[in-house]
Formats: sequence, C-alpha cells, structure tokens
Amino acid sequence: MDYFNYKDNELYAEDIKVRSLVEQYGSPIYVYSKATLERHLRAFEDALAGKEHLVCYAVKANCSLALLNIIANFGCGFDVVSKGELMRVIAAGGDPHKVIYSGVGKREDEIEFALQKQIKCLNIESESELHKVSEVAARLNIKAPVALRVNPNVDAKTHPSISTGLKQNKFGIAFEDAARLYQVIKNDPHLEATGIDCHIGSQMTSGAPIIEATDKLIALYHELEQMGIKIDHIDIGGGLGVTYNNETPPSPYEYLAAVLQRLKDIPVSVYCEPGRAMVANAGILLTKVLYLKSNSERNFCIVDASMGDLIRPALYNSWMNIVPAVKRSASDALPGSDPNGTLIYDVVGPICESDDFLGKDRRLNVREGDVLAVRGAGAYGSSMSSNYNGRPLCAEILVDGDKAFVIRERQREEDMWENERIISAIEEEFA
Ligand SMILES: *Cc1c(COP(=O)(O)O)cnc(C)c1O
Repeated sequence: MDYFNYKDNELYAEDIKVRSLVEQYGSPIYVYSKATLERHLRAFEDALAGKEHLVCYAVKANCSLALLNIIANFGCGFDVVSKGELMRVIAAGGDPHKVIYSGVGKREDEIEFALQKQIKCLNIESESELHKVSEVAARLNIKAPVALRVNPNVDAKTHPSISTGLKQNKFGIAFEDAARLYQVIKNDPHLEATGIDCHIGSQMTSGAPIIEATDKLIALYHELEQMGIKIDHIDIGGGLGVTYNNETPPSPYEYLAAVLQRLKDIPVSVYCEPGRAMVANAGILLTKVLYLKSNSERNFCIVDASMGDLIRPALYNSWMNIVPAVKRSASDALPGSDPNGTLIYDVVGPICESDDFLGKDRRLNVREGDVLAVRGAGAYGSSMSSNYNGRPLCAEILVDGDKAFVIRERQREEDMWENERIISAIEEEFA
C-alpha cells in the first residue's frame, strides 16, 4: 500500500497532483511520499516490537539525505556499504552507534573511519578482512565489534543478479568456516564477536528462504555458545520483496513473525537490513513523453527519463509499472487503438543504447507532452543513476500531505564536469 492514488483519473502523490509537480519542477523528477515511507518504517518496527531489535535501513537502496533524516528521526539504524554512505548517514543526522557496515571490499581507511566513529558492528566477509580489521583496531588501541556475514548457502529464489546467499556468490564467509573464524576472533585482543549476520538476496517474495537461513544461524549460535562465545545479536539481513507487477510478497509482519518465533528463547537482539521494502513503493519517477513514433513492427513512446535515471529495466530486465499521470478516456484514442483506447508501446529513453528502455509492450493511451509515472521507483532508482550521455541527475521532491519539498536540486550541466581539468590548465598551474 502506498499514497500514490488516482482521484478522478488524476494521479496524486498524497494530496498533490503529480502533473502539477512536473509543471512546477520540470521533468524527469523523482517524487517520494513521506507518509508511505513512515508507514513502512512503522510496519518493520511493529513487526519486531515483541523482541529487542534494531532495524538497519540499507542505505544503498536510496541514499537521499532527506529520506535518511526521516529514517533516523524514526529511531532506526542503518546498514552501510562504504565510507561515503556512512558519511551520508552522519550528514543526515543518523547516529553512528546504530550503524552496521557490510560489504566484501572495505578499504583500510574505510575500516579506520568506521571504527573511529564507533559504529555498532562491522560485518566481516572474509578471513583477510578480519585480520585487516584487527590490525586497524590494534593501531587505534580499541576492540572492534564484529559479526561474520556467513553465507548459509540458501537459495533466495530470486533473480540471479540479486541472489547473494549461494556458494557461487562473492558474498559472505562459507558456513563451514564460520566456527573456526569465531575462534580466531575470540583469541584476538582487538576483536570482539558481537553478532552473526547474513543477507541472502533481494526481492524475495516468500518467507521460506529467510526461515531456512535463520535456522542455520541459530545452529551456529548454539555452536558458539559451546565454544564460550556469547554474541548479542542475530542479523537476518534484508531482501524482503515488493509488488512491482503481480508478485505477492509477505508483509513485514508475516515475514518476521516466523523468524521471531524461532528466536523467541534465544537471548539476542534481532537485526534486519531492509532496503527495497522500505523505499521502493515510496517513490515514483515522473517523465514526460517527448515523441511518439511507429514503424511496421513497433510503436515507440520516447520519454525524457533514461536508463541514467532508472537502470533497473536495462540492468535486470526488471518490470516496472508505467501509468499515466492523467488517464485519457477510451473515446479519446489514437487511430488503431484497441477498444480501451490503448496502443502497445515500448517506452524508451533518449540514451544511445538499445537497452535504454523503461518498459516494453505496454498498453498506453498517450500523446506527446503527457506525463507518465514509473511506480515502485524509490529503491535502486536514484541511487543507481548516472550521467551517461551527458545527462544531469534529475531533481527529487518529497511530498508531505499537500506540501512539496525539493530535496535534491536538478543537477546543472556544468556541475557534471566541475571536478575535471583540461591539461593545459594543469600545466599552467605548475609552470
Ligand atoms: C543490499 C543489501 C541489503 C538490502 O537489500 P534489500 O533487498 O533492498 O532489502 C541488506 N543487506 C546487505 C548486506 C545488502 O547488501
């Protein structure tokens, strides 16, 4: 459920017509609904209310300062995967003590920065990284809080590009190596094992894989107990899916109830790392139709948003729902339309790549100048955007009831090369 709904054939973001947002702020723009984000935050908090817990929002899904600030004010923690994300969380008013840090390739300076900021936990993904963290902690003369991100070898049954819990994936530490490495941690004066972590994949539409993973983590918990290692949290990662088309993922409550049931007698805090489920349906991408053209095979609806703004369709062949900002009636249809007034279009962007599309084979009743909305664009949309083809990053708007806030200005063309130098200028500098 979200707060992007039609009233009298007009799509609204909470109480504002999305068409009027394009009139005011231009196109393309990302539009987020504060009420939707808060609804999702509440759903996770309520689902875990029966047990000590920490919801760590996965920043990579959408790293907007304004959204991070709302999440921080709600009391949630964060899961970061780089120094840049940790700095963003701090800049947004987040508490570093509620931050956990994941990722297979943390640099030494990133580890040092995170330890200096006294983050909650580093999720370790290899034996080499464990030694690196120990080295840095020794230099800082501290004990670093760590968890092993174990790879439970569970099939998340999701798209191969976003599956992370199998042996062929680069993520995590093999389950069978975990106990030995916890012993290494125990013997190291500069490391402290505070948790067990996993993250098995994204866009999971069933609760079964996470239950299977939880059972493996619990088995490891008991093994560690035998070894005299007492951890304080079990982190089940993120990965809960959302509805883009006709998927029927469990609610956060349903998803977490079975996990909590299994953990109820285990004296640990439960952490989770939701990204997509928190923000996907809290955002839409609005884009204007530039041109319509047809050949003997296909109709193309060429819009001003591109794979640079939203790469999921091009990268993963993701299906995203594309709907008109204002629904036209069937009587107002182009020649050749079906009885509902629609033609079948490929909705494509302006970038010089055949894969630059937002949707294929979509039934639409559109004209040049119309505004379309790509739904479910709040996660892995803006955060994956690029300047490819010399296109500035688009503006971002946050709607709260009948108020709209520009939370990111549209990038200016000249901003795209502000850090670049022409070599003659460099030579002059050193002359
Ligand atoms: C990406 C990621 C998440 C969030 O995944 P979602 O599917 O967006 O919930 C959580 N934890 C880690 C370690 C990740 O890499």
